[in-house]
Amino acid sequence: MTARQDPLRITLIRCSTVLLEWRAQRWLTDPWFGMHLRGLPVFRRPASTPERLGPLDALLVSHLHPDHFEPGAVARLRPRPPRIIAPPGASAARALAPFLDVLHELAPWRSLALGDGATLWAVPGPHTGPGPAEVNYVLDLPDFGHAFFGGDARFHGPTLAAVGARFGPFRLALLPVGGTRILGRRTVMGPADAWRAARLLEAEVVIPLHEGGLWLSVPPFSLHPGRAAHLATIAARAGAPDRVVVLAEGETASCCGAGAPGADGARGTGRPHGVIASAARMPP
Ligand SMILES: [Zn+2]
Repeated sequence: MTARQDPLRITLIRCSTVLLEWRAQRWLTDPWFGMHLRGLPVFRRPASTPERLGPLDALLVSHLHPDHFEPGAVARLRPRPPRIIAPPGASAARALAPFLDVLHELAPWRSLALGDGATLWAVPGPHTGPGPAEVNYVLDLPDFGHAFFGGDARFHGPTLAAVGARFGPFRLALLPVGGTRILGRRTVMGPADAWRAARLLEAEVVIPLHEGGLWLSVPPFSLHPGRAAHLATIAARAGAPDRVVVLAEGETASCCGAGAPGADGARGTGRPHGVIASAARMPP
C-alpha cells in the first residue's frame, strides 16, 4: 500500500450540512434540514432527511446558528449519534440540552481522536461574534492528509494564515461562499474571500458550501449574494478550473483516491490529483 489510498467521500446535503465518509467512519457537519429559517421560506431542499442518513459516528458542529444546528433534526437521526462535537460553551445552550450525554466541547487548537485513526482539530472560526462561539475544523486523516471545514466562516486573514501554517497544505477545503452581509457588515466568506482562503490554506481542492439564495434575502438586514458558480469562475480565470469542485445537493465527490480518474497523468491533463466529482445522487 502506498499513501493516499483511502479517499474521502463528500456528499453535499445542503448549505453546510455535509456527509463525510472515510474508511468506516461517517461524519455529518452542521446538521440543518428545515424548510424555514427565522420565519423565512427556504428555497432549496436537503438531499436527505435525518432518518435516511443512516448511522453516523459523530456530528461536527461549527456553531449554533439555526442553519447550522437544528436540534429537532438531530433528534430524528437514527440511530442516535454517539458523539456531537461543538465549540466551547455549547453545553450551556438550550439547543444542546437533549444531547449533553454525547456532547464534547472542543476548543480551538485542541484535538480529539475520531475512529479509524482520524484526528479532529478545532481551529478559530471568526464569523459574527461575539457569540455564539464558533470554530472551524481540521480533519487529520492518516495516508490522506488534512481537510478543512469552514462551516460559516468569515474571511479573517491572520487566522487562516495561522491555520495554513500549522496544517497546510490541505488536500481539501470546504468553504462557505454566501458572502452574507448583515446591515452591510460581512459575516461569511464570499466567493473571492473563499479563493483567498484557499490560497492561505494551500488547498489543493475547494468545495464551496453555504451559497447564497438558499432562503429569502431581506436587504439591508441580510443579503447573501455569493454563489458556488462564482468561485468556479474565479478559479477558471486564475487558470485553475479543476481546483474548485461544485456539488449540487445530493452529489458526491471522492477526494483524492489513487486510481480515480485523473490520478494518472494529472499534470498532463491539468486535473487535480485523483479528484473526481461524480453525480452519485443520494436515492430519494
Ligand atoms: Zn452562522
